[in-house]
Amino acid sequence: MTTNQALFDRACLTIPGGVNSPVRAFKSVGGTPRFIAKAEGAYMWDAEGNRFIDYLGSWGPAIVGHAHPEVVEAVQEAAARGLSYGAPTEAEILLAEKITQLLAPVEKVRLVSSGTEATMSAIRLARGATNRNKIIKFEGCYHGHSDSLLVKAGSGLLTFGNPSSAGVPEEFVKHTLVLEFNNLDSVRAAFEAHPEDIACIIVEPYAGNMNLIKAKAGFLEGLRSLCDEYGALLIFDEVMTGFRAGPRGVQGITGIMPDLITLGKVIGGGMPVGAFGGRADIMEHIAPLGAVYQAGTLSGNPVSVAAGLKTLEIITRDGFYEQLTAQMEKMITGLVEEAKKAGVTFSADFAGGMFGLYFTEKVPTNFAEVSASDQDAFNQFFHHMLAHGVHLAPSGFEAGFISAAHNDEVIEETLQAARASFQKLA
Ligand SMILES: *Cc1c(COP(=O)(O)O)cnc(C)c1O
Repeated sequence: MTTNQALFDRACLTIPGGVNSPVRAFKSVGGTPRFIAKAEGAYMWDAEGNRFIDYLGSWGPAIVGHAHPEVVEAVQEAAARGLSYGAPTEAEILLAEKITQLLAPVEKVRLVSSGTEATMSAIRLARGATNRNKIIKFEGCYHGHSDSLLVKAGSGLLTFGNPSSAGVPEEFVKHTLVLEFNNLDSVRAAFEAHPEDIACIIVEPYAGNMNLIKAKAGFLEGLRSLCDEYGALLIFDEVMTGFRAGPRGVQGITGIMPDLITLGKVIGGGMPVGAFGGRADIMEHIAPLGAVYQAGTLSGNPVSVAAGLKTLEIITRDGFYEQLTAQMEKMITGLVEEAKKAGVTFSADFAGGMFGLYFTEKVPTNFAEVSASDQDAFNQFFHHMLAHGVHLAPSGFEAGFISAAHNDEVIEETLQAARASFQKLA
């Protein structure tokens, strides 16, 4: 039998760092990534035959549980009719109709193949529709890996950001302002400094890429009204939270409506799909109707769309989110209790089927506060949990995800693992 270590060593020979997306490499927690052989329901199995309760959920998509029989059947049925045509299909209309029905501000939607493409295209569209160049993003929010979004905060609050990746010229990010999440004053100051130049704000309305950090009361409302006042567009990047934090994403929870929304993850049900959509008058700036160019060979791929459609059908059945949220709440309440019993400094939060675990007294509200939490404690906890058969995200800066298959038995098993793991930390 092969081992995870043997696979990792071999992978490193032909794949940079042995992985096709960096966080999978366990660099922040240390150790050897588990190479997954199969997954079903709430569980996945590695190449050594170890079984894990899965809280990665493919970083969000696996909301109905892995290898859901109805999704698998839809994919098989679509695949048998051909993998890709490069011409339009009826299924794409069904997915667009479903998204526009479920997400109120979305009148038109364009499908792409990843979240990165969705956000990159939405930004281009916002710039094209407003004839402005500058954009605002927030520190710790992740919007995929396109050049102008790989930016970290500059030295001062209102200076433009610096590239957060080698290979991104400073000139490419000189229009990107990076501000503090949940700090409305900095946004107001940015608009006052550049009243006619800001095309859009892009924000994860609940951030899920610096652990889970929710917008404070008033923050999203404030962004909405500043955008209206200065003629900028508000983009909610709901690639992670869309159909994950709730049946209508964060815009459904808060009632704050963006002009554009970006989606991914859940809407592909585990296959590569992204989307961006919004008000028709804005979306009509996109080619072939308008002058903003965007295209994709595999956009609206029939097999991906079949997986997404079936997933959306399942999650819109009665009681789906009530059940998911109830399980989530049980788990989070249990974790907080176990930490308390063991005397470990710990807090936790959740929204629908996503959660955050923090080795801090209080739930953090921005990137600086997450960074100040005890990362070493997280890393130890991660490995104790893994040894007890629970696979969390391998970084204290990531959110976690449950699925409809995380039933009482799975949650109980998780809490037992947590009890043992917290005790080892104490
Ligand atoms: C995952 C994610 C992206 C990028 O999506 P990919 O499919 O990985 O390109 C963008 N924005 C947010 C909020 C995400 O969580």
